[in-house]
Amino acid sequence: MSASQPQPRGRFFESVSRYFDRAARLTHIHPGLLDQVKCCNAVYRMRFPVKRDDGEIEVVEAFRAEHSHHRLPTKGGIRFSPDVTQDEVIALAALMTYKCAIVRVPFGGAKGAVRIDPHNCSPGFRERTTRRYTAELVKKNFIGPGVDVPAPDYGTSEREMAWIVDTYEALNPGKLHNYGCVTGKPLSLHGIPGRKEATGLGVFYGIQECLSIAEDMKPLGLGTGVAGKRVIVQGLGNVGYHAANFLQAEGRAIITGIAEREGGIYSADGLDVSAVFKHRQQTDSILNFPGAENVIPSAELLERECDILVPAALENQITAENAPRIRAKIIAEAANGPVDAEAEAILLKRGVFIIPDLYLNAGGVTVSYFEWLKNLSHVSFDRMTSRYQGLTNRHIIDAVERLTGKAVDPRERRELTAGPGEINYVYSALAETMSSAYHHVYEEWRTQDLPDLRTAAFHFAINRVAATYLDLGIFP
Ligand code: NAD
Repeated sequence: MSASQPQPRGRFFESVSRYFDRAARLTHIHPGLLDQVKCCNAVYRMRFPVKRDDGEIEVVEAFRAEHSHHRLPTKGGIRFSPDVTQDEVIALAALMTYKCAIVRVPFGGAKGAVRIDPHNCSPGFRERTTRRYTAELVKKNFIGPGVDVPAPDYGTSEREMAWIVDTYEALNPGKLHNYGCVTGKPLSLHGIPGRKEATGLGVFYGIQECLSIAEDMKPLGLGTGVAGKRVIVQGLGNVGYHAANFLQAEGRAIITGIAEREGGIYSADGLDVSAVFKHRQQTDSILNFPGAENVIPSAELLERECDILVPAALENQITAENAPRIRAKIIAEAANGPVDAEAEAILLKRGVFIIPDLYLNAGGVTVSYFEWLKNLSHVSFDRMTSRYQGLTNRHIIDAVERLTGKAVDPRERRELTAGPGEINYVYSALAETMSSAYHHVYEEWRTQDLPDLRTAAFHFAINRVAATYLDLGIFP
């Protein structure tokens, strides 16, 4: 078996463009309006100086693309990556527009990127770069609670979001809704519980929905349900770690392989995801995990037999080069754009089921939306209802016990009468969002006789975005 290295990232923009065009041709929308839905409304490309720890000055290049102003604010993550390009940022921003439309989040799509290596820069350089990038965005009105709201993405986390909100606040003193200028913040800085794991949890919910439909699983030779499915995950970062963890802990799936930059590990008996995560933190490498086989290069893991392959690292990981060797039955696109358009054609022909990124990783923006709502309302979701709900439950339990003469299990009584916490609201609203979005896209696929699920997702999103312009009477 020949193993491939991760592929260059240049084709991502073309892939998104091709996916859009394929779905757009199947709509009944005026070509002028399709152009408007497709094009990127604004891109800000900047260069600014940042002092390195050794006193030298480095000129950093960065971007912010606001793909669609049909709804405001625009929304999308910020990635730190040494070889990010303007085209890549525009493609990612476009995906955000369609993603928001699919999960009914009332935002346009955006994306930001800073060309630095997140795995090879000091905390001080990282902080100075993040703060300067934020100041540049403020100068050009490319950030703000009603304008454009960033979030974490590849190479960034809640730490960068904390620096962003702090810088924004300093430049806009005393404005009431400042905390809504960015999401994915730490809890102590008006974040929301559940945001950190939201994308991975959404990936788990999405896979669960897909695997619940027996008629789709049958041709793959699979039964319904996640339990017992053999899964390989690429990328043990924010999205990959949480997706793998929920698949294992909640779904009872068997995680047989995990791929990282330095290599991959495989065990037919299954890997303990939390233990692997700790091992990587302690040893700085995923390799040499007790009881597992080392796989180098890690891209070889993508080609191993499994039921579900979850690419959760970067775009263009599966291309025409390695697609013929992929042996997974389902590819669950947790990352943005992991399968390029040429690879997709090969995989679909071979009967591989692809759950597309623009649906599957929308859990992050969904919970970001909840965080933004919380920041604008200045109250947590459980504050007004939790105690009331607990008391109501107590009255119901008391009545049930009176009527049946039987006592409810004390543990259940305690749980129900405690009332829901904010995390319960977040998880249940995310589960509902991922479930209903899957069924909307699925219905579009089946009732409109569209070729595949990705085309259905684009078709659905294009129609939703176009509807805003149609209601404005701008296009015929
Ligand atoms: P992250 O930086 O937290 O994690 C990415 C991980 O992938 C890192 O551990 C990195 O070492 C690993 N990696 C990089 N190249 C690799 C390779 N060639 N092989 C194996 N592993 C590799 O980033 P993240 O936030 O988890 O984002 C991952 C993907 O998910 C990106 O495509 C991002 O755009 C997408 N995404 C993220 C979010 C979010 O909320 N963070 C939301 C939607 C989509």
